[in-house]
Amino acid sequence: MVTPRADEGMHYEGNCIRPPSEAYSILLQVTLGCSHNKCTFCGTYKDKRFTIKDDETILSDILFASQTMRRQDRVFLMDGDALIIPQKRLVWILDRIREHLPWVRRVGAYANTKSIRLKTPEELVTLREKGLGILYMGVETGDEELLRKIHKGTSAQNLIAMGRKVVDAGIKLSVTVLLGIGGRERSLEHARATGELLSAMDPDYVGALSVMLIPGTPLYEEFRRGEFQLPDQEGLLRELREMIAHTNLSRGLFFSNHASNYLPIKARLPRGKQEALDQIDAALRGEIGLRPEWMRAL
Ligand code: SF4
Repeated sequence: MVTPRADEGMHYEGNCIRPPSEAYSILLQVTLGCSHNKCTFCGTYKDKRFTIKDDETILSDILFASQTMRRQDRVFLMDGDALIIPQKRLVWILDRIREHLPWVRRVGAYANTKSIRLKTPEELVTLREKGLGILYMGVETGDEELLRKIHKGTSAQNLIAMGRKVVDAGIKLSVTVLLGIGGRERSLEHARATGELLSAMDPDYVGALSVMLIPGTPLYEEFRRGEFQLPDQEGLLRELREMIAHTNLSRGLFFSNHASNYLPIKARLPRGKQEALDQIDAALRGEIGLRPEWMRAL
């Protein structure tokens, strides 16, 4: 416990992760770790036990930001899924952001199906009215068998329902899907089921990342035992193509410009769908250069 002070710097602990689109945001760490922490491919928070940071530490960081980060007009609440914070405390955090950082236009956070389920529709609306403008959720796949295999802890139907709940509350929804998570065997099933899930959920943004094998994770061990094989470059491109072909968003942006991918795509759907497919076809024919292996990163 600390007495709130504006001159102590930010109290960051451990690995600090934020979505690429929050690169210039004020990063306010309000939780440590991820409340789920069981996905077989994820090594992000393995070193942290999930906790909510105390109010004094959070307020100290807000006060420090109020003196030093006056040009940043977005706040991102780290770590894993800040939406899991009980409503009263989350409202208190948003109120303190409004009070001390009045220039901030949008607050964002990670969420998962559990943290969304725990909020009523009315509570989500209250959070939006208090500044929560965007939630980021890892969908990974729409394939039920794969969701079980990677220990996502949820079903495709639940992902769709919780995604819709966020959209219906007027909060922007950005989701990530994982190219390669089905391995070579389930690559195209994964792509089709994920496209169908995205069409039913209709989020504002879809970011496609490629699976990277992280030593120490269960997926890495499967790979070492020869039970999991990543699709090659061509396989990943075909998977991306199949996924986009099956994705029908009413107005969303589908992008694969994350550093883990071989081919950066940015398509406003439905309008930009054919152009994106043509671009992938050109890459498959070798007419467009792919990101070299050494430049790929998480
Ligand atoms: S992928 Fe997301 S939900 Fe799964 S363990 Fe990692 S941080 Fe938690």
